[in-house]
Amino acid sequence: MAIQPIRLFGDPVLRATAKPVTTFDKELRKLVRDLTDTMVDAPGAGLAAPQLGVSLRVFTYRVDGVLGHLVNPDLSLSEEEQDGPEGCLSLPGLRFDTKRAYGVVAKGFNMHGDPVTIEGTELLARCIQHETDHLDGVLFLDRLDREQRKAAMKAIRDADWGQGLVPRVKVSPHPTFGFPR
Ligand code: ZN
Repeated sequence: MAIQPIRLFGDPVLRATAKPVTTFDKELRKLVRDLTDTMVDAPGAGLAAPQLGVSLRVFTYRVDGVLGHLVNPDLSLSEEEQDGPEGCLSLPGLRFDTKRAYGVVAKGFNMHGDPVTIEGTELLARCIQHETDHLDGVLFLDRLDREQRKAAMKAIRDADWGQGLVPRVKVSPHPTFGFPR
């Protein structure tokens, strides 16, 4: 087991654009193991490498009992949307309804460098979109509508881990669902 500390909202690594993996080596396999162990221990449905302070395009997930990981993901999203509660291990205790595509086809690689495709709907699709956002420095807060975002910022200020943080929303390359960029 190699459980690592999870970076919290306010840490700049969560706002950086992660780099593509180019070497599928022992270190990458260790990263996937650390992500998996830390995610399962938390517990959480997904964890992206930047949340462990590693700015690489890798995430793990555990949805409906299925464990997996994806390297260098490339997503195709359905036009149909879903709305439902979402949270993040980097924002402990916060849950807000977040709009996402209903389905996703995610192409990428496994830790050995073999091409893989993951298809999912509902929770798995939500998780894959959330984790891929992390690789672009985007947090689910950025996808909330203005009113929910205000409530989320207040919840962060009120949280014991959020003391002294200055909330900041990055200019997003993604649709922000009405939130001003
Ligand atoms: Zn997250």
